[in-house]
Amino acid sequence: MTEFGFGHATDVGRVRSDNQDRYFGDGTVFAVADGMGGHSGGEVASGLVVDSLVNRERIADLADLVNLVHHVNDRIVETARDDPTLHGMGTTISVLAALDLTDGEGRLGIANVGDSRIYRLIGTELEQITEDHSLVEALVRDGRLTPEEASRHPQRNILTRALGIDEKVLVDAWELRAVTGDRYVVCSDGLFNELTAAEMSEVVASTDDPQAAADVLVARACDVGGRDNVTAVVVHVTDADDAGDDDQRVLSIRRAVPEAGTLPPSAPRDEADGSPHGDDDEAGDGDPSPSAPVGAERGRVRGRITWRVGALVVAVVVIVVLAITAVAAWARSSYYVGVQGPDVVIFQGRPGGVLWFDPTVEEPVNLGVVELDDADLDALRAGVEFGDIGEARDYGRRLALRVRSGN
Ligand code: CA
Repeated sequence: MTEFGFGHATDVGRVRSDNQDRYFGDGTVFAVADGMGGHSGGEVASGLVVDSLVNRERIADLADLVNLVHHVNDRIVETARDDPTLHGMGTTISVLAALDLTDGEGRLGIANVGDSRIYRLIGTELEQITEDHSLVEALVRDGRLTPEEASRHPQRNILTRALGIDEKVLVDAWELRAVTGDRYVVCSDGLFNELTAAEMSEVVASTDDPQAAADVLVARACDVGGRDNVTAVVVHVTDADDAGDDDQRVLSIRRAVPEAGTLPPSAPRDEADGSPHGDDDEAGDGDPSPSAPVGAERGRVRGRITWRVGALVVAVVVIVVLAITAVAAWARSSYYVGVQGPDVVIFQGRPGGVLWFDPTVEEPVNLGVVELDDADLDALRAGVEFGDIGEARDYGRRLALRVRSGN
């Protein structure tokens, strides 16, 4: 069984009046949940994460870990349904767990929803494992913001996924090899929006005491701003049944990709390949049709040429039809939140349309343009895109919540 040392710390920060972050660590499972929602909703949602981890069943493999996250989501959705004052509450979850496999090899599972993070430190190299489900992360991925700009962006707390918002939730998960000496940091955005990766790495590498590292991380984040609740769990892998190649730590990645209609997915749904950077793009699908063999013997092969020309025409028609179908599917496979007249609404399609495929109004967001400030209005006029309608709804709810709570 893999053994760990760990420490954790949390602080309300310098700006907020209550701490909606929760952490968990019991020697085999470590987690951070960053709750959100008015009244006591945020604390209830993140508290349900902790309660579900305390009362968990055995986590034998990655599927068990992902199921656990789905179970927490169900509990939060049901709790909010039963109590109107908790309506709209949600939480992130970033969880690291020793997988209780029977083959003896130390394996770790990671599951993530929202914008809390898990980093791994090898020596002094800090690497972010999880990917945020937030608006600014989407803008960074798009090249429209740098990570530094994202950490100061006024809309940095808008999530594209969270627990408790919908009955269906998309969970990203990783399976890693446990390697003695590796260190992990599980934290809320209140930490990484204040400290750079280099600052975090320096603190975690500087001491063999994970509790001291967690205390220093949180204290420093408060010292330099503390604009949000700050939470860190520092985990040291102290004894792993090391087997196999230490350089091959990531064994599998399961990114939950929103359903992409009829268009073939551009990224693999299940990356069995261990390398997080190893996107070997395959070359195109081959050229569709070599030119027909016209030449000296034309007269003799007339029948064949005719057949080949016919086949070529059919191939070209098929390719054109497939291309139009693909463009139509792509144009309609996305949703965005935008503005129509005085209302904020969810559109199906792409902002501005694609060719002759115009976006259509899918549903209202229950938010008026007059409630928005200029920055939000500009973002919505341009259209904020999502892969599925659930994410667009999450964004709309969160935007309404934020606008009305004045955050
Ligand atoms: Ca936060």
